[in-house]
Amino acid sequence: MVSRVIPVGTFDLVIFGGTGDLSRRKILPGLFRRFLAGQMPDDARIIGAARAKLDNDAYRQLVREAIEEFGHADPGFESELATFLELVSYVPIDARGEMGWAQLAKRVRSGVIHAYYFSVGPGLFGDLAERLHGHGIANENARIVVEKPFGHDLKSARELNRTLAQHFSERQIFRIDHYLGKETVQNLMAVRFANILFEPLWNAQFVDHVQITVAETVGVDGRGAYYDKSGAMRDMVQNHMMQLLCLIAMEPPSRFDPDAVRDEKLKVIRSLEDVDSHHIVRGQYVSPEGEPLYRLDVGNPRSTTESFIALKCHVSNWRWSGTPFYLRTGKKLKARMSEIAVVFKDAPHLIFGQEAGRHCNTLSIRLQPDEGMTLNVTIKEPGPGGMRLIDVPLDMTFAEALADQLDDIPEAYERLIMDVMRGDQTLFMRGDEVEAAWAWTDPIIEGWEKRGDVPKPYEVGSAGPEDAMMLMHRDGRRWREIK
Ligand code: NAP
Repeated sequence: MVSRVIPVGTFDLVIFGGTGDLSRRKILPGLFRRFLAGQMPDDARIIGAARAKLDNDAYRQLVREAIEEFGHADPGFESELATFLELVSYVPIDARGEMGWAQLAKRVRSGVIHAYYFSVGPGLFGDLAERLHGHGIANENARIVVEKPFGHDLKSARELNRTLAQHFSERQIFRIDHYLGKETVQNLMAVRFANILFEPLWNAQFVDHVQITVAETVGVDGRGAYYDKSGAMRDMVQNHMMQLLCLIAMEPPSRFDPDAVRDEKLKVIRSLEDVDSHHIVRGQYVSPEGEPLYRLDVGNPRSTTESFIALKCHVSNWRWSGTPFYLRTGKKLKARMSEIAVVFKDAPHLIFGQEAGRHCNTLSIRLQPDEGMTLNVTIKEPGPGGMRLIDVPLDMTFAEALADQLDDIPEAYERLIMDVMRGDQTLFMRGDEVEAAWAWTDPIIEGWEKRGDVPKPYEVGSAGPEDAMMLMHRDGRRWREIK
């Protein structure tokens, strides 16, 4: 099949924090994969930048090791890796001082796309923007890529937006949410908006409820100090889960263009009702013996930060009035699973009698692991013995016809970086979206802070606190199994 990948122009990509965890795990191996896929121009340049005093060769060695460790690089790619490393160089720089800026200004070329990836702690985003501007490095065609967290609340997000806006226009700012870079998330948009089948059913008349789960098996993983100030609400719900909810709930945009899509997402966030405190369950993981493992992990014996949250919310508009959206996310749960399930209502009249059982169609969109989309449909169980019904999954993602393309599906980060180079902001959050998400999140957090709410304990390896099950049971519904 002929590739229809949109080509990328020559670029200089500067990765601030180019020695850090995110760079080593995701950004650098992702760039190498795009290089292998032939998507990177031969004269592209990747410039790592951090305070460590490395020379080019030492940095290339760091990049090589990162690709070998996290990029699953086949030893057969040695000569490609050597060619890729020729594109890489390093500048020691201090985001808060003068070190390195003059050198960087000399290193970036004129007449090519400039992309500056802010893969540093959020406290440095403003400093980097100011210095890029002050040293005249960022031309009007430059882009900046800003990592999460984007603010801690509405006030700080507004301040950050204001700071970035002093130096860059909105069309230059790429706020990354790697969930949006996943193949299946984009497939969800294709399924919704390129087929006549789903849209007529995509509303409160036919959808019983939507559930979104992001379950992790890991704990706070050395990020305890950050996580304890953040918690599941800020770390997952305000950004990733909100974005997923938007893609399910939004109206069809008039065209697949960045502002048309983001306008519709923004309307969803602004339509979210305040959440009743009875519709929120917060949890903290403990050992089977009841030891407060979360508190020990973050080194804060009195912590009331949640490592789990489940909530029910409503999108208050004509399409969704009456259809609840249940969100659940947590750490140290029984399995790693990110999934959206659109659960349709039962058929209005059952002609097959009680013994056939009750069945409903569910569209499940799985983001990890095993990305894919399945539609459960009810059919007759084959064979004699009367009309027995069973549910079978229809695989809607990877038809056999596409099998030869599956090896080259880019991972989220690499897809998003290439979108930055193309200047395509469709899969990036706009400043007003982020602020609207905080405007919805802040009162919820303030509410439990005011009440002195203490998270419920849940055992590591479980599906979360019992109360989270009750949140669904009270409504006559069930969470899907975490597996
Ligand atoms: P990290 O491992 O702590 O790396 C931080 C990087 O920033 C290092 O390269 C560090 O190198 C550099 N740095 C620190 N202070 C600097 C300064 N004053 N000037 C220039 N460079 C400086 O952090 P990370 O985990 O990679 O995270 C980076 C960003 O990505 C954060 O905003 C984080 O929230 C976000 N993020 C990370 C992940 C992940 O999986 N790691 C996932 C999602 C989002 P030097 O100390 O040598 O300067």
